[in-house]
Amino acid sequence: MICYLFEAPTYFLFAPDLPPLLYYSHVPAAIISLLVGLFVFMNQPKRLANKLLFIITICFSLWVLISLISWTNINASFIAFLWPFFGVLKTLLVILCVYFIYAFINKGKDVGWKIKTIFILLLAPVLIFASTNLSLTGFDLVNCDAFLYEGLYFKYYYTAVSYIAIIWIFALLIKSYRTADQGFKKQILLMGTGMELFLLLFVTIVFIVTYLTNVSLLSDSRLEMYGLFGQLVFMVTISVLIVRFKAFNVGLIASQALLVGLVVLIASQFTFVESVFGIILTSITLVITGIVGILLLRSVKKEIKQREELQVVTQKLAMANEKLKVLDKLKSEFVSIASHQLRSPLTAIRGYASLIMDGSFGKIPKKAEEPLERISESAKNMAFSIEDYLNVSRIESGNMKYNLTELNLKEETEKICDDLRPEAVKKGLTLLFRSDMKSKGIIKTDLGKVIQIVQNLINNSIKYTPKGSIKVLVRDDIKRKRIYVDIIDTGIGMNSKTLDTIFGKFERAENANVANIHGTGLGLFVAHKMAVAMGGDIKAQSEGDDKGSIFTIEFPLSM
Ligand code: ADP
Repeated sequence: MICYLFEAPTYFLFAPDLPPLLYYSHVPAAIISLLVGLFVFMNQPKRLANKLLFIITICFSLWVLISLISWTNINASFIAFLWPFFGVLKTLLVILCVYFIYAFINKGKDVGWKIKTIFILLLAPVLIFASTNLSLTGFDLVNCDAFLYEGLYFKYYYTAVSYIAIIWIFALLIKSYRTADQGFKKQILLMGTGMELFLLLFVTIVFIVTYLTNVSLLSDSRLEMYGLFGQLVFMVTISVLIVRFKAFNVGLIASQALLVGLVVLIASQFTFVESVFGIILTSITLVITGIVGILLLRSVKKEIKQREELQVVTQKLAMANEKLKVLDKLKSEFVSIASHQLRSPLTAIRGYASLIMDGSFGKIPKKAEEPLERISESAKNMAFSIEDYLNVSRIESGNMKYNLTELNLKEETEKICDDLRPEAVKKGLTLLFRSDMKSKGIIKTDLGKVIQIVQNLINNSIKYTPKGSIKVLVRDDIKRKRIYVDIIDTGIGMNSKTLDTIFGKFERAENANVANIHGTGLGLFVAHKMAVAMGGDIKAQSEGDDKGSIFTIEFPLSM
């Protein structure tokens, strides 16, 4: 084709004597990538990766447009004007690809100013080259082409930047692949293959063809067109990422529309492709896209079905949960009523047993003493159990009331120790009280509940210690404004499994029954809940079974 120097262009995008491969390689690649880019962008315009993908596809399509114009147009000055844009667009495109990969692996997080500066520094020389005559040194008027006259330094520079970008992307993907979870690893692999193939084909083929033509080993620079097929590979991987992995937060129905759109677009080429070669190429592309599309749609459908099934199960579960809540409330109410009913007769039993034992109804025979004591002991245990049940039902129904007053925890603990010492001594244990205080030890809590908590823990130590001692230590930490009560025993201890669970409802250790059969597994649950509700906490430590235990109650100091 001979150039016309001063006339207006005769052909703009379509010329009669051009090979069908030209349109086949250019038109679908540009339209499909623009379509995918626009589609991803429209679905989530705010996401950085989506935005960048769209800009990449615009750059690519502009490159393709210039390429088409330079093939078909025969106005020399116009082509010479357009030529430097090849280099500019290519550099911009590869840098945007690096930026895009950053956004992709960082799940949308933007890069810092340092990396952005590097991007700009890499791009700036290309812009400077392009605006001077270093980018184009002459023009081939016979072939209407500037292919051989592109400035060497310009070409080497932007090709070097392209390879730097390809290696950069590779390094980024490898780095994030190492730490990614299984699902994201697959996405990285797919994205990496698609993008690297695209860039390698796009950069390398054009460069090699240019070089070979330069050294006159190749007379037909048409081969360059194959470089564009890489973009289709990239777009297919992007589509798979969209549909299969929802990488761009695009909805399912929209993804299906995208697939159908792609197939229709490729099929529509039949309307203008005339040569046999073109028809064969289009058919092959259509078949490949069709198969990939069907496979994807199938997997998506399967997923939808699974999701629907999951939804049904979730609904059923929610209903069951509601029912359970109602039942739980009923149970709490029942426990509360039943416990109240049990409490009054029990008070009578305990009262009369104690009166009989005191001799208020006359002297009791020696033989009756032990049974009477048993009655009294059992009634007391039962009263404690009932109190536990009532407390649990109060906590669970949110009816536990806390009446906060200032009290001296050190003094209260000492009193409790004095009260419980006879019981310990009866079991052959020593119960020691010590304190190490810098403050007065005042806390603002509910007196009754605090007594219950401390009593419960010391009682537990007595129950679960067959021999040895129980030490109770009250200490404070002025800096952290907290007061602690340590209850240290030499009893049956707890293994790590027990330690993990003892504050749960009805939790008792396997070795608990040996030491004490009268247990509900509710005492610690109630004590812990109450301590936490008053701003405190209870912690348990033990080095293992038979190695003793340390329970620590803590509360915030009020002065
Ligand atoms: P209960 O004593 O009624 O079983 P708790 O809630 O008070 O219920 O205690 C729960 C479990 O924690 C006990 O069954 C026992 O296994 C363990 N436990 C509590 N205190 C101690 C302790 N001082 N030494 C060893 N185990 C203990």
